Amino acid sequence: MESLSVPVFVLDTRSRVMIWNRACEHLTGVPADEVLGTTDHWRSFYEQPQPTLADLVLQGRAETARGIYPREGAHHDGHGGAHPASPAGLSVESWCDMPRAGRRRYLAADASPIFDGGGRLSAVVETLRDLTDEKMAQVALEQLATRDGLTGLANRRCFDDTLHAEWARALRQQQPLSLLMVDVDNFKAYNDAHGHLGGDECLKRVARAVASEMRANDLVARYGGEEFAVILPNQSLKGAAIVAERIRARVEQLQLPCRFAPGKHVTVSIGAATAIAGPDNNASQLVAIADAALYRAKHLGRNRISLPMSEAA
Ligand code: GH3
Ligand code: MG
Ligand code: MG
Repeated sequence: MESLSVPVFVLDTRSRVMIWNRACEHLTGVPADEVLGTTDHWRSFYEQPQPTLADLVLQGRAETARGIYPREGAHHDGHGGAHPASPAGLSVESWCDMPRAGRRRYLAADASPIFDGGGRLSAVVETLRDLTDEKMAQVALEQLATRDGLTGLANRRCFDDTLHAEWARALRQQQPLSLLMVDVDNFKAYNDAHGHLGGDECLKRVARAVASEMRANDLVARYGGEEFAVILPNQSLKGAAIVAERIRARVEQLQLPCRFAPGKHVTVSIGAATAIAGPDNNASQLVAIADAALYRAKHLGRNRISLPMSEAA
């Protein structure tokens, strides 16, 4: 075990470290001399006291493992030992503080019980794999696939996926689902006057202003060029109109000057729509209704919000 390239440590039945191999020293930054014979091994992984996976196997606390490592990676409960009541092995993946190594690491841990000839538990061995690079690559890929590069908001694809998921949820829960379409006014003229880079900067500022009005379950996405879409789950049309007006006012308050119209600032027009999901309608119709409302807001003079025809009294 000492010369294995895989980080390994072994605990005896009283949670004292029996083995702490060289690869484990290298991973944790903690020399074997320091931990052998102690129960201080958790300090190599966490800032605050927390049982390692090996401790949980020793104590037969698989349920606790699920609580401590929620949804992080795969849980795998191995077979029990020779004895029906003996603890099973556990596998988890999670971020660890690694106080002594000085940087957080994403580790895959496997802890397995070792039994003596009589089937009694005599030790638990925990092997570790450092998956930080893979995890970071995965996070970066997810970011690329779902985020808009310019504004950092959700991209169109993420919007489509979220809208369909929220539609399905609204259908199940029979809750209203609202949508806002937000479009920057006269943006072609803005681009012409400020250049494309100036236009990009403006879009970033507007995106931040829109996002600042969102609650935890709302999603704001860059729908296309200078158009943003906001999904508001469980929101009535009345509530959506209030959010829309807040967004409109917030963008106006940015007071981003327009060179092409001295004294004027960048503004947005917003179309709102709400639906109760049912068998006779779908998410695309919600987009179409919000789009039509947006068109009307433009037609009525811009820098305003508009509700669907039948609702706008
Ligand atoms: P309206 O008030 O009716 O919305 O007029 P508008 O000029 O905003 O609408 P139009 O659709 O004619 O023009 C949108 C402009 O947005 C044209 C396009 O060049 C610009 N645009 C789209 N995407 C980007 C981008 O990523 N960066 C910049 N700088 N401009 C963009
Ligand atoms: Mg526009
Ligand atoms: Mg547009």
